[in-house]
Amino acid sequence: MARGDILQSIYNYSENDLKEYMISIGEKPFRSSQIMEWLYRHKISSFDEMSNISKKFIEKLKEDFSLDLLECVTHQKSADGTQKFLFKLKDGNLIESVLMNNEYGYSICVTSEVGCNMGCVFCASGMKKKLRNLLTSEMVLQILTVEKLTNLKITHIVVMGIGEPFDNYDNVLNFFNIVNNPKGLEIGARHITVSTCGLVPKIKEYADFPLQVNLAISLHAPTTLIRDQIMPINKAYPLDTLIDAIKYYIDKTNRRVTIEYILLKGINDTLECAKALADLLHGLNVYVNLIPYNEVIEKPYRRSSKEDMVNFFDYLKKRRINVQLRREQGSDIDAACGQLRSKHMK
Ligand code: SAH
Repeated sequence: MARGDILQSIYNYSENDLKEYMISIGEKPFRSSQIMEWLYRHKISSFDEMSNISKKFIEKLKEDFSLDLLECVTHQKSADGTQKFLFKLKDGNLIESVLMNNEYGYSICVTSEVGCNMGCVFCASGMKKKLRNLLTSEMVLQILTVEKLTNLKITHIVVMGIGEPFDNYDNVLNFFNIVNNPKGLEIGARHITVSTCGLVPKIKEYADFPLQVNLAISLHAPTTLIRDQIMPINKAYPLDTLIDAIKYYIDKTNRRVTIEYILLKGINDTLECAKALADLLHGLNVYVNLIPYNEVIEKPYRRSSKEDMVNFFDYLKKRRINVQLRREQGSDIDAACGQLRSKHMK
């Protein structure tokens, strides 16, 4: 095993963690902000590049930490400019990240777990059970590695890759602290979105998180009966408890919540469903993202017809629900929502 494989990655450390480390080794706490700048502004690939740090201290950092990036196994580019990266982790597990070029900047779709336990019936990512949580560093490094490989500055983050971020809550929140740090990547909290399939206790806990990171909920059904059929999480936290948690979050934070709703042919795309959805969301400070379903070869589900999608959209508009019909990106390289797969090789 290479030495870098057994060392702790320095990218697991928030500025506060680095401060504590400094104190524990008798260094000045302010060194933590210098280190943040070296890591995230200058993107050093060796500790030796840190010109304002003593040689002795650099040797200590080398003994304690690894600076390794993720190993990129494949890098694909879609005709629409979307890019997909397959990364190999130190333990051999493979994960994917997707880079999208939007008019407002570059956004990255970050993976939060190896596999996923949520089992949503329509999603390719959940076909492999979760093997483990990603470390904070493995999420931070998806961004740093993509920025280094492409020479681009990422301005927006969505935690919508493989995995359920609220099932890896502490590491994901620590990741937000690191990427948001003004001495680091400085990605504004309002430019970050985390999506959950509805882990009710975590949604409530998240209302107290100080950073204003956007929250999206994968709702996908207007009644508990339909949701039960397509999202097993609804058995643990039924729709009414989820709506209560969303209300609680909005009351506590005064922030608007995004509702994701995939249109699945014959399952949740009728006008009756649109009506039930409008009734459910009436009066809530939410924004509905209607998502055309991306078909997955192993799954029997189909995309709704254009006409049904437009009728659904028009009905919600008429009921004065804030709604958009999302354009898709990257489907020609299997990089669109729900098409990312967990590929394990151990
Ligand atoms: N586990 C979290 C994060 C994943 S986000 C969550 O469920 O929110 C990925 C989004 O893509 C989710 O809203 C998911 O439901 C949606 N999705 C899954 N499969 C899809 C597919 N085949 N086509 C379109 N969207 C899909």
